[in-house]
Order: sequence, then C-alpha cells, then structure tokens
Amino acid sequence: MPATGAATTLFVLTAVGLPAKEASILVVVEWILDHCNTVLNVMGDCIGVAMVYEFELEEEVEEIEVRRCLTRRRMKVKIRQWNGVASWLWVANDENCGICRMPFNGCCPDCKVPGDDCPLVWGQCSHCFHMHCILKWLNSQQVQQQCPMCRQEWKFKE
Ligand SMILES: [Zn+2]
Ligand SMILES: [Zn+2]
Ligand SMILES: [Zn+2]
Repeated sequence: MPATGAATTLFVLTAVGLPAKEASILVVVEWILDHCNTVLNVMGDCIGVAMVYEFELEEEVEEIEVRRCLTRRRMKVKIRQWNGVASWLWVANDENCGICRMPFNGCCPDCKVPGDDCPLVWGQCSHCFHMHCILKWLNSQQVQQQCPMCRQEWKFKE
C-alpha cells in the first residue's frame, strides 16, 4: 500500500465521525494490509474503518475475527473456556471382586456409581473386595469371620 493509504483512511475515519485516538489502531491495520497483496487500496480503507467500528462494539471477539480475516499467518487465539477431564482406576491386585465377580473399576451389584460410593477394602490377607460385598459376606458368617478367598481370619487392613 502506498504512503497515501494512511491519510486516506484517516480521512474516511473522520468522515464517519470516529474519535481520533482510534487512529492508532489503524497504524496496525495499515501494517497488516501492507502485507496483504490481494487487498486493493480502496478495499483496505473500507476494512480499516469497519474494523475500528467493530472494535468499539466488541473489542475481544472482533480482534480475533479481524486478524484471522486479514492475515492468515498471524492468528491470535484466546482461550475463553475449558473443561478438565480426569479419569481414575482402582489399583488392586485383581480385576474382579471375588465375591460378586464384578470388576473393581465398576461397583458391586447393589450400587450404581463406582468410586467413593462403592469403595474397595483390603484384608490383612491382602485380598480385596468391594466394601459392600465383604460386609454382606461377613454378616452372613455365623461362627468366625473369614476371607472368602483364602479362609484366613478376616481383618481389615489399616
Ligand atoms: Zn463385589
Ligand atoms: Zn457397593
Ligand atoms: Zn484372603
């Protein structure tokens, strides 16, 4: 764009009644347009004015939009929102509960939500069960409380 480009733009700017301080933005616009060979001078002025106008309405959004339109190489991305995703696994020495045969990363047959609502417990024999399953099992034992896997006396591991 020739040196008269800026002057022309300022003239158009004054004609549409925008405040003079906004002209500083136009310096940037002119620089961008200088590097954009496909845009004609007249077109450039139109885009420049349109851009300042949009700037006043919605500064953040339009800045991204305009930069993307005028120069494809200088795209500025702003993260406006993000969602964290986390996953978890029980670390047990087996994959399934020896009582209900359901996976440890699922829950016992009485529960719907795995995790804190249906925790795992370990015995001192190192066998592991859904807490609900082992409690049900222990309550059903009349005489001595034994691990259903190894028949050792059941004691909860601290
Ligand atoms: Zn179970
Ligand atoms: Zn449960
Ligand atoms: Zn055991």
